[in-house]
Amino acid sequence: MEYFNFAAGPAQMPKAVLERIHEEFFNCQDSGQSILELPFTSDLYGAIAERAENRLRQLMGIPESHRVLFLQGGAYAHFSLVAMNLMGATRQADYVETGHWSTRAIGEARRYGRVTVIASAEENGFTRIPPWKTWRPNRNAAYCHITTNETADGLQYHWLPVLEGVPLVADMTSDFLTRPLAVDSFGVIYASAQKNVGPAGLTIVIIRQDLLEQAQACTPTIFNYGVQAASHSRTNTPPTFAVYAAGLVFDWIQAQGGLEAMALNNCQKSRLLYAAIDRSPVYSCPVESACRSLSNVCFQLSDPVLEERFLTDAEQHGLLNLQGHGARGGLRASLYNAMPLAGVERLVDYMEAFSSRHAPSGLLQSATP
Ligand code: PMP
Repeated sequence: MEYFNFAAGPAQMPKAVLERIHEEFFNCQDSGQSILELPFTSDLYGAIAERAENRLRQLMGIPESHRVLFLQGGAYAHFSLVAMNLMGATRQADYVETGHWSTRAIGEARRYGRVTVIASAEENGFTRIPPWKTWRPNRNAAYCHITTNETADGLQYHWLPVLEGVPLVADMTSDFLTRPLAVDSFGVIYASAQKNVGPAGLTIVIIRQDLLEQAQACTPTIFNYGVQAASHSRTNTPPTFAVYAAGLVFDWIQAQGGLEAMALNNCQKSRLLYAAIDRSPVYSCPVESACRSLSNVCFQLSDPVLEERFLTDAEQHGLLNLQGHGARGGLRASLYNAMPLAGVERLVDYMEAFSSRHAPSGLLQSATP
């Protein structure tokens, strides 16, 4: 049976990429060395990293004004590192609170300066992105931070704020490379790799050049974005295997038709799944439809007692890792780029069969069109 992995991360990888890694694992590009053994100072690793960066630039249309860094630490470390690198002399930054991960980002940034939460979804239970007209941006903020996709809550921005003179900084960990976007609208984009890019251990930072020189003195050298930019992300040993695998994933995305194709597939997959949730009395999704995530579909069972049953039966159907985030509970299907439509179709079939077995009597009939 073919298995489909709906984990939020590390997540399902494109099969073609896993096969390619397997093929050249012992002999990377005829060098006689495994990718795991290549010195990061070698010409071959340099070429692998450069090729990965160029492909990423091509996919995202990254302008010359922005640098690409291949770092470590995970997005969680960069919650602090963004603040250390960018808060500058004013030591003030604006944050928008939309769910679990932006709340974590705010908590970390508060150690380094004055953080103002200029809009929050807390009052609506993290079920919608605060509308632009409710934001109260500060002109003195060094930057404004958003989380474009809330992995644990299932919310996503489907529009972008336009901030006069204040750089927009985005944690894009769970929707990086899932749709086209204007990179020049951002001061910084950062994302951990283990969802849409490749193995855990790599964090990608895309940063406008003029923001590279304002790090606080306490910033560790290897996490100083300016220092890393100057050394082409080789101030210390980079996550070489993860960069290599990321390059293969970028090639795969390009071969599928680029970010437009990813966006189309992701729309189709998530639409199918939300429709199945909305038409059954057994499932519900609390997130307002205009703010629903195309990457992480979070939903609940009308009877939470059935959750364990749902998950074990799903596994028997080859549908893995559908449990919600530990802090939020419920269920979650992550539909990143590598999840094929066939996986979502199997999930929807399974959910419909589960729903007919468990719908409170009488309800199913009236809820089905
Ligand atoms: N931000 C978001 C939106 C995330 O989804 C995650 C991980 N799920 C993180 C930050 C933290 O990433 P990491 O575990 O790589 O530090």
